[in-house]
Amino acid sequence: MAVPAAVVAESLRTLPGDDVRHVMWRFSERYDLQMLVQSVRQVARGPVARMVAEGARNSHEWTEQKNALLEHYDAAGVTGVFMEPHQGGFLEGPKNLAMALVAFELAWVDAGAATGSLAGHLALSPIHERGTQEQQDKYMNLAAPARPGEDRKPWRGAFALTEPIPYVGVDTGMLGGKVSVASWEPGREPMLQVEKRGRFITNMGFANFVTAAVDSADGRIKGTCMVILEEGDPGTFDRGTPTKKLVHQLSSTSDPIFSMTVPASRIIGGYTVKDGVIIPKYSHDEVIAAVFKHTRVPVGVMTSAKLLSAVEPVIRYQRGRFRGAQQSKPGSPRYDLGLQVRQDVLHRLTDVWATGEAGASLGFHTARLFDELDPLEKEKFRILEEKGISGRGELRLFKEVNARAVELVKQRSRPEPERDAARVAELEADPLVRYAILDSAAMVLCPATKLWNTGHGATVMREAVSLMGGYGITEDCPGFLGNKWMDAQLEATYEGPEAVQRRQLSVCMQNEVFLAQFDGWTKELRHIASERPDTGACNLASAFVLWRYTHQHLQVATDAAGEKLYQGPRQGVTFALSDALAWLMAARALVLDVIALEQKGGENAVVAEGLPGLVTFYEDLAHVQCARASGEVGRICAELVYGYNLHPTWGEEARKACYEAKDLDELEDLIPGIGSCAVDVIGEGGTHPDKAGPCAHCTRVADFAVLRMKLDQCLTGARLAKDRAAEALSKVMIPEALDYPV
Ligand SMILES: Cc1cc2nc3c(=O)[nH]c(=O)nc-3n(C[C@H](O)[C@H](O)[C@H](O)COP(=O)(O)OP(=O)(O)OC[C@H]3O[C@@H](n4cnc5c(N)ncnc54)[C@H](O)[C@@H]3O)c2cc1C
Repeated sequence: MAVPAAVVAESLRTLPGDDVRHVMWRFSERYDLQMLVQSVRQVARGPVARMVAEGARNSHEWTEQKNALLEHYDAAGVTGVFMEPHQGGFLEGPKNLAMALVAFELAWVDAGAATGSLAGHLALSPIHERGTQEQQDKYMNLAAPARPGEDRKPWRGAFALTEPIPYVGVDTGMLGGKVSVASWEPGREPMLQVEKRGRFITNMGFANFVTAAVDSADGRIKGTCMVILEEGDPGTFDRGTPTKKLVHQLSSTSDPIFSMTVPASRIIGGYTVKDGVIIPKYSHDEVIAAVFKHTRVPVGVMTSAKLLSAVEPVIRYQRGRFRGAQQSKPGSPRYDLGLQVRQDVLHRLTDVWATGEAGASLGFHTARLFDELDPLEKEKFRILEEKGISGRGELRLFKEVNARAVELVKQRSRPEPERDAARVAELEADPLVRYAILDSAAMVLCPATKLWNTGHGATVMREAVSLMGGYGITEDCPGFLGNKWMDAQLEATYEGPEAVQRRQLSVCMQNEVFLAQFDGWTKELRHIASERPDTGACNLASAFVLWRYTHQHLQVATDAAGEKLYQGPRQGVTFALSDALAWLMAARALVLDVIALEQKGGENAVVAEGLPGLVTFYEDLAHVQCARASGEVGRICAELVYGYNLHPTWGEEARKACYEAKDLDELEDLIPGIGSCAVDVIGEGGTHPDKAGPCAHCTRVADFAVLRMKLDQCLTGARLAKDRAAEALSKVMIPEALDYPV
């Protein structure tokens, strides 16, 4: 490999350990989380890994052997991580980062194990997010592991939304599950009859309670809600037959049937009675939205953990590939490097690593953001309740709050001397403004994490498998890479497949507060690029600009038939732009983490040793990822900007029309489907040869072309960075053997 000697500076010595992760994922100060990671890791690389190696994934049934994992989770803090200390948990405050770290550790070995543990939290989430205080205290306490001296088994839960076809799947409004009044004696609490069938419900093999989504089948109950069903309630609690999954076999999944009578106090969030009608405080949609807002982040992190876990086994495989051969002598490149004498395997592994790294950065960034957002959300609820504002009133209030949030974002993105400090302080003092800023970012970053990490991650996981040759698709593959590849597809599917995430993104990226932040992030990247060009931030900033331009263009542009492009049903437009946005978010998160490593790494003695090489390597990975993201964004945006026009045949008439049209609308009336070719035919750079100024359409298309060209030119150095990262992979020291199964 011809990497100029001058550019091969110090590089990666060993694979990044925990200290590096603490710095990059910003939990250096959180000893509680560091200890949690260690204890979960012992379970993951011990009992979980042994179970996978022994073939426990070969059965669909929830066996005694698999059930034993639950007690390991309890002992390691995996179960209690969700609860408050007074409910039997051990962590104070928001727990999004903690849960993401737990998911990461378990999925490093087996994502089914991670899913089993997360599903318990998912079952509790409706209660946690929208339950009454009594519901929260009751079920959190029951689900917490036994405290010292207590003799009880913790309750396990399942979350039942999905129903047999043709009911709930992606479309959560198609509820087949029903609730009606079973009996209602005067002055007493109503009793409800719940009929619910589930499909693919995780934890059903052992759950003691279920949080289920149902619709009213009775004029005396309004709308939909979620209810809590307990195993001991009167009626049928049929766990159903196990699902014949090809993936995640260390979690339990089945199609249960419930026909039960429960008190109305099991309606999550409570209810009021008006004119003899039970009105649940929250519809099932409101509860679900609050739940998935949080729970999708750890799922995204799971797939990234698998990609990162592939690096060490692949390097070991590559290095040892030819060691036994007669002609391969110790000291020879063939003996020492094996397959790594071939550039392609190193480049592909670099891509795997960069993808895993960017996904983890995005996931943990989002989890930390939720940790900041959660207390503010509570504060928002308190303020609204105090002011007696709900429904449309809330929307009206937030119109005004959002305007101030945009103002604050714009102020913050100016250089400090240019800011109005007093105004900034005033705006920052308003919790609703701070909430609006964080929430609008979270509403994009969460689906971006779920979409990009799992969807693109699954594709790249295949690449990791292919690097192991035939071994990759055997049960014996070190690091269980074949399993991890298949499993990734489930992570892309459950808790809402990619279509659901794209749908959310296409709505939430329209939020003006988010867009103002997006513009601020673009400036920030430009600034980073000026100081640290090796991160690829320049290329990424240009991709941000191109995306923003395309986003604006699509708001007003029409297709060849004059139909508006950016509209809900037009998923070809909105979903594609959502994908592009997710690429940007992931690459940005990695760049920010690399900067944190550079700035804070020196404070940790372990990281400080070898820091320059580590930073160089990580800058190269970020550069590779930025280049890849900008390529995707360029492709998607170009298709969207040019792809909805017809290829015109330019005659004199068209030239004349383009010249004479006052604006784009008029031009498009005259020539439906005018396209990019206008630039070639009518004039370079959007200027008509015989006219002083450009017409509106030519300007717009020409502007895009200029931005796209700039984007491509900003790729400078990207392949050199890839060469360097690849070179580092051929030199990095790895342990003699994988540390799992142990
Ligand atoms: C192992 C496993 C465990 C699970 N655990 C649980 C659980 O614990 N609790 C629970 O409630 N559910 C669970 N699920 C269900 C899971 O969440 C659903 O399978 C998932 O949400 C998709 O629903 P569906 O399978 O009905 O797909 P469908 O709704 O049939 O969608 C199929 C595909 O059609 C396309 N599509 C559908 N609608 C749209 C649209 N509006 N726009 C564009 N494209 C669209 C998408 O490509 C989508 O992937 C689990 C699933 C599995 C496989």
